[in-house]
Amino acid sequence: MSTTHTNKIDIIKAPTSKINEVDFENLSFGSVFTDHLMECDYTNGEWQKPVIKPYAPFLLDPSARVFHYGQAIFEGMKAYKDDEDAIWLFRPDENYKRFNSSAVRMAMPEVPEDVFMNGLNQLLQLDEAWIKKGKGNTLYIRPFMIATGKGVIANPSDDYKFMIILSPAKSYYSGEVKVLIAEHFSRAANGGIGAAKAAGNYAAQFYPTSLANKEGFQQVIWTDDATHTKLEEAGTMNVFFRINDTLYTAPTSERILDGITRKSLIEMAKKDGITVEVRPVLVSELVEASKNGTLKEIFGAGTAAVVNPIIGFSYQDVYYELPKIENSYASQLKEELTNIQHKLAEDTFGWTVKV
Ligand SMILES: *Cc1c(COP(=O)(O)O)cnc(C)c1O
Repeated sequence: MSTTHTNKIDIIKAPTSKINEVDFENLSFGSVFTDHLMECDYTNGEWQKPVIKPYAPFLLDPSARVFHYGQAIFEGMKAYKDDEDAIWLFRPDENYKRFNSSAVRMAMPEVPEDVFMNGLNQLLQLDEAWIKKGKGNTLYIRPFMIATGKGVIANPSDDYKFMIILSPAKSYYSGEVKVLIAEHFSRAANGGIGAAKAAGNYAAQFYPTSLANKEGFQQVIWTDDATHTKLEEAGTMNVFFRINDTLYTAPTSERILDGITRKSLIEMAKKDGITVEVRPVLVSELVEASKNGTLKEIFGAGTAAVVNPIIGFSYQDVYYELPKIENSYASQLKEELTNIQHKLAEDTFGWTVKV
């Protein structure tokens, strides 16, 4: 292995690449990882020197706090390669800021911008062969932090590990999605951790989602925990509703994650002349709109799938099917957003950042 020392980061290169073993045409999302990862430890009250090294499992003490008390947060972002082989990120500053607000909420140390951004840029340059050109090809980026301090003592860890791993991805097609509107379970509550990208939020969703899966629904639309009357998120995505020609989505709150795809779609839709109303949307409005034929679309929004159309929903044991429409807002906005991300359309918003 060759090691490069810089003032900022040590780079230990993998002796060989795994890239030739990977079938880039048949990637299942999030299951293949590149040759390297970036790591930075927090010990003695400070961040140590970051290192990029070969992707490999690592050892942790069985009493590490992450296993017992769940101090774990993450981000999800993507890198794209344009026709000139330049690498681009989409609004990475937003991911960085959100990562640190998640850290604060979970009583974890904030990661310095240099560690996050410089580490990410160097890692992407080293593994750039894994970013394929062409629309739909992306490299999914997963920064995360875990509590590594020893001891089954219920207070925050003294030690943490920040890492970035990379996974090549094809455009994400999740099939036809039917959703169940939550009447009992909740994803988040006021005062809780719903606005943080905390691992525990996902663990809490698995059981109610598996019950929905058994009934033939791929996802749950989460409602507010207090009354279950307001529509909040679809699975792990923000959610939009089109009634007549107006697009509705809930305001972000302590219970709703401030998605970067969500806020980008709102700005794009407004620019396209679509009326967007950001306000709480009631389950009763959705049912009413479906009954009177004004409900045209429901779609989820998030980095992994970008835009995910929903074909029907169930509420109080009644299934409501959405009409099949042409020129949907979902497909229009997805096309526009992915064109900006892949540098196939002019980025008038200034969202794309060159690596
Ligand atoms: C990550 C996430 C989203 C989507 O956020 P993006 O920044 O658009 O990827 C939405 N809801 C939840 C619960 C999430 O964890």
